[in-house]
Order: sequence, then C-alpha cells, then structure tokens
Amino acid sequence: MHRITVIGGGFAGLTAAITAAEVGAEVTVHEAHHTLGGRARTAEGPYRTNEGPHALYNGGPHWTWLKQRDLIGPLAPLPPLEAARLRLRHHGVLRRTPPFPMLKLLRRTARQAPVDADFLTWATGVAGEEGARAAANYSAVALFHHDPGSLSAAFVQERLRRATKLPPEAHYPRGGWATLIDRMAARAWNLGVRIETLSRVDTLPTDTPVVVATSLDAARRLLQDSSLTWPSGRTALVDLAVRTRRGDAFAVSDLDTPGWLERFTAQDHGLAPAGEQLIQGQIPLAPGESKADGTARAEQLLDLGFPGWRERVTWRRESVAGGRTGAVDPPGTSWRDRPAVNRGDGVYLAGDQVAAPGVLSEVSFNSALTAVSLALGRRELDLKHA
Ligand SMILES: Cc1cc2nc3c(=O)[nH]c(=O)nc-3n(C[C@H](O)[C@H](O)[C@H](O)COP(=O)(O)OP(=O)(O)OC[C@H]3O[C@@H](n4cnc5c(N)ncnc54)[C@H](O)[C@@H]3O)c2cc1C
Repeated sequence: MHRITVIGGGFAGLTAAITAAEVGAEVTVHEAHHTLGGRARTAEGPYRTNEGPHALYNGGPHWTWLKQRDLIGPLAPLPPLEAARLRLRHHGVLRRTPPFPMLKLLRRTARQAPVDADFLTWATGVAGEEGARAAANYSAVALFHHDPGSLSAAFVQERLRRATKLPPEAHYPRGGWATLIDRMAARAWNLGVRIETLSRVDTLPTDTPVVVATSLDAARRLLQDSSLTWPSGRTALVDLAVRTRRGDAFAVSDLDTPGWLERFTAQDHGLAPAGEQLIQGQIPLAPGESKADGTARAEQLLDLGFPGWRERVTWRRESVAGGRTGAVDPPGTSWRDRPAVNRGDGVYLAGDQVAAPGVLSEVSFNSALTAVSLALGRRELDLKHA
C-alpha cells in the first residue's frame, strides 16, 4: 500500500487526502491549527464571517468533483430581488448597469486576450480607456489586486468572464465554507485518513511522499527554498453587521478604483442574528497604502449603498490580507510559470500560488490532484486542466 503525508488541512490538503485515500493510499494529514479549513474556515459565534472564500464557482473543476461526492451540501440561493440590488459605482455615483463601453469586453465573442500584454493596454484597444478601466476594476472581485489593469490581459480576461457570466457562476454554501470543509473532513475520515490537528510540521518527513498543502509563504519556510514566491494581492477586509433596512444594496462594485462590498445575508440569513445584515468588503491596497486607507474607501462605498449604516452598526472588524488571495499573473506569465508542483525527492506543492490553472481556490484544487497523481505515480486520476 502507498503511504503519503499531507501537510496542511485546508481545501488543498483535504482534496489531496481524499483523492489519495480513494485510490487506496494510507494518508496522514498534519494541520497546525486546532481546526481544519485554513482560509476556508468560517468564524464561530453570531457573525459567521468567512476569512477567505465566499463564492464557490460552478464553472470550476472542483464543483463537479465535489458534486460527484455529494460534498457541496445545501446552497443559499440569491433571491432575484436581491440580485437586482447589485450596484456599480462609476464616476462617484451608483448605477445599476455597466457603462456601455465595458460591455464590449463582456461579449461572448470578445477576442481572446494575449498573455504578453497588460490588460489595460489590450482592453483599451477593444473598448476605449474608460471601458477598460471599469472592466479591470470590476474584475477585482476575483483578483484582490490594487491594479488589475497592470496584470496579464489573458489572466484578467478569464476572471472577468467568470465573474460576469449569466446565470452567475457564484454559489454560496449555506452556513459558509466551514460546512463544506466539515463534509470533506468527514469523507476523509470515512476513507480512513488519519487527521492530526495541532500538528505543526517543522521538518519534512522523508519516509513517505509529501504533499505540502500550505500557503506558498509557509512552504517557502518549510522547504527552505527562497525561490518559492509569486505575486498575490494585498487587500483590506472590512466586515460589519448593521440593523436591517429595506432597500440596502446586495453588493457594490467600485468601477472607479478596485473594491467590492457584499451583503452575504441577502442569500444566507443565518450568517447574522435576526434583524441584522452581515456585510463583508474587500478593498485592494496599493504599495504604501494602509488599512485605514482601505477602510476609508470601504466607508465611501457603504455611504452610497447602505444609507444610514453608521447609526445601524452592531458589530465591526477590519484586517489586511497580504498574499492570501491567490496568485496573480503579470504580463508575459501564466500559471505554468509559477512554482512547479513537483519539487523533487518526493515533495509536491499544492496551493493557490503554484503551477496549476483555475480561479482562486480552484488552483489549490487542481494542484492537489496533480500533486497526488505525481506522488502516487497514478496517471488515471482525473486531471482535466481547463
Ligand atoms: C479575502 C479572501 C477571499 C477569497 N474569496 C474566494 C472566493 O470567493 N472563492 C474562492 O474560490 N476562493 C477565494 N479565496 C481563496 C481561498 O481562500 C484559497 O484559495 C483557499 O482557501 C486556499 O486553500 P489552501 O488549502 O491552498 O490553503 P490554506 O487555506 O491557507 O490552508 C493551508 C493550511 O496549512 C496549514 N499549515 C501551514 N503551515 C503548516 C505546517 N508547517 N504544518 C502543518 N500545517 C500547516 C494552515 O494552518 C492551513 O490550515 C479567498 C481568499 C481570501 C483571503
């Protein structure tokens, strides 16, 4: 029987563990924290915030895999009346529809954007500068980067398409991603995976192949390999609860500068106590910008989309997520240029900043499948890369 060690019990680690156990391997997972999930944990208590993922995109490879195993569980559908409350800030005011030039970039027939050019230059040629800037800023919902227009045009176009598809790709596990993680952990357990929490690994084991399913920063320290770097975003996270008021926006996307606020109780009432709404926002920060700068921009969006919010606040929290929102690809690079999954000597990387395709957590998922297939020498694992 093959044995395999997985370091990290987040979405990547659990995907790797289940995949390996399903083909008969004896798997041990080490997770440093006392609970599983990593960035996909949902806070306990009255305000069930997610640090990381909120949306599960049904166009991704993980969707089919999770569905086949009955792991998705109940979803919280967005009522159409709430969906109609998506607002876009453009030239300082809220509007319901995208500016016309931006639509040119959303057409299904739009040309495939090149890898080598930056998005703003390429998109300006298609839709003019105003449309290009608005589209770049909208894509920040899935990019968490302060200047999406400066990234590879192909990279940004893929995220823009996925984030604007109709019907929307974004789905929301009821109760937050912790419920999805719980189901994955139960499946791993039933397959005989040994899961050790509060088990931080400081030295790589040498008696089994190892899948290092941590953030790239943690992998760099563990492998003592300074080449393990790749750009990611830095974003201010503003979470707050407000007393319910009819007519609040569902979400506000900032087309003037990157930023996104979403009222997650619009689709899932259980995330906050009765009579309150949970809003989570992310405002990407440029180098040199502080959490306070991001918070100030979030407050401008709140003023527009949630009138009277200051008098209605019941709970509030702010933080900065640096390098925790997945890989971004500069012009001239694609996912193939990121740190390779196979590190040699039986060590494999899985995570959202390594060489695998997909949007956000899909990179963790795809790299976990690749890592296990290489670790076990199994070609027959389903490794369909988009
Ligand atoms: C604000 C924000 C919003 C996001 N929104 C979305 C979204 O809407 N949709 C989406 O798909 N994705 C989203 N993401 C991305 C998503 O959260 C990540 O891609 C995904 O959760 C990463 O999973 P992972 O398992 O690769 O890494 P992690 O979740 O970081 O898991 C790594 C685990 O390894 C453990 N660990 C680290 N070092 C060690 C060690 N030495 N020994 C043992 N254990 C160790 C950690 O404790 C952690 O549990 C978002 C992220 C952020 C921050």
